[in-house]
Amino acid sequence: MLIVQKYGGTSVGSLERIENVAKRVAKARKEGNDLVVVVSAMSGETNKLIEYAKHFSKTPSKREMDMLLSSGERVTASLLAIALHEMGVDAVALTGRQAGIRTDNTHTYARIESIDTTAIRRELEQGKVVIVAGFQGINEHGEVTTLGRGGSDLSAVALAGALHADACEIYSDVDGVYTTDPRIEPKAKKLDYISYDEMLELSSLGAKVLQNRSVELAKKMGVKIIAKSSFSDGPGTIIAEEDEEMMEEVVVSGIALDKNQARVSLRDVADRPGIAAEIFNRLAEEEINVDMIIQNASREGTTNLGFTVPQSELERAKKAIAGFDHEFGSADYDENVCKVSIVGVGMKSHSGIAAKAFTAMAQSNINIEMISTSEIKVSMIIDEKYGELAVRVLHETYELDK
Ligand code: ADP
Ligand code: ASP
Ligand code: MG
Repeated sequence: MLIVQKYGGTSVGSLERIENVAKRVAKARKEGNDLVVVVSAMSGETNKLIEYAKHFSKTPSKREMDMLLSSGERVTASLLAIALHEMGVDAVALTGRQAGIRTDNTHTYARIESIDTTAIRRELEQGKVVIVAGFQGINEHGEVTTLGRGGSDLSAVALAGALHADACEIYSDVDGVYTTDPRIEPKAKKLDYISYDEMLELSSLGAKVLQNRSVELAKKMGVKIIAKSSFSDGPGTIIAEEDEEMMEEVVVSGIALDKNQARVSLRDVADRPGIAAEIFNRLAEEEINVDMIIQNASREGTTNLGFTVPQSELERAKKAIAGFDHEFGSADYDENVCKVSIVGVGMKSHSGIAAKAFTAMAQSNINIEMISTSEIKVSMIIDEKYGELAVRVLHETYELDK
């Protein structure tokens, strides 16, 4: 079997832990598997490097940020190779570039365009364990790029797809995907299976156990992911195509919390055709990700417009909006909001799911500021200080601990 394994930051967070990973890799190799191992930077390392850059500049060059941040993964990859050599396992560490990972030119948030697997295959044929530094590639100009936070998951899935691997195992400090973040709700239950669509919603809505882009790519390429813990043995959670036999008859499968949200409210906006297009085009030009949008029914020629953006993009959003200040009465901003969401494919065929969530919020005296829904999710913007409480209340409401 050809297996792609990915070990995240916590799993390689210290020299002892890298040793532990080396033991796991050696064992899988002894069992006769061909192995490609993708590693993250040691936990906290990427954040530390970002802080270093901030010491010099509030707006460091994105090209240089990629040079800087890609180094964390190289450290772990080479240390793991050295540890394996000491155990008598033949291994070689490759950077993203050496592994043939080509991306577009979007520094710090690049997309993988293609993977040339020649070098990896050559090393595998020579009987080596191939270790790949995650989270990175190169663009057409040969510049290093990185794939967005949590991007080593994406490296692993892309490699598994390109190599037609038999399995893509993603190891972290939890033994699978839970009904909600077990750090928030200790009663959360591990799921045996979850569909790509549900996992994509959960990860896009804040569950960082898998990077959302990696799930999107896994679905596109048909890569079956198994989420497991590097600290214990167990079957983990399988993320795959929706399968009626495998998936139980559940309506809601998980709850996610995204704290990286900020709300923008524009009052007394001139109510004329084209105004929304102008404002949101401007935000799009600035590459600001607008999420929920609400507009009130207009009164006396004006309307109120509210929307959310990632907290980290609020300052840029304020600047973009300033260009329209003659078009609205006042603007206010709130960083102390969060988004809590319920996700489940069963919602397609059941009614009253959203109403049940709203009732639960009301009974806990939590005010809902914005709502958005799709076929398989309901999201609510609420005060950040009630975020974790809301997760627990909803977890109980849909009996996810049962
Ligand atoms: P790594 O550093 O290995 O990539 P992450 O820290 O990115 O690992 O992801 C694992 C963490 O995701 C867990 O420690 C857990 O707190 C969090 N998490 C959030 N939502 C969930 C969920 N639904 N199921 C499991 N873990 C979750
Ligand atoms: N080290 C990178 C990050 O912290 C990528 C990853 O861990 O997946 O975001
Ligand atoms: Mg991660």
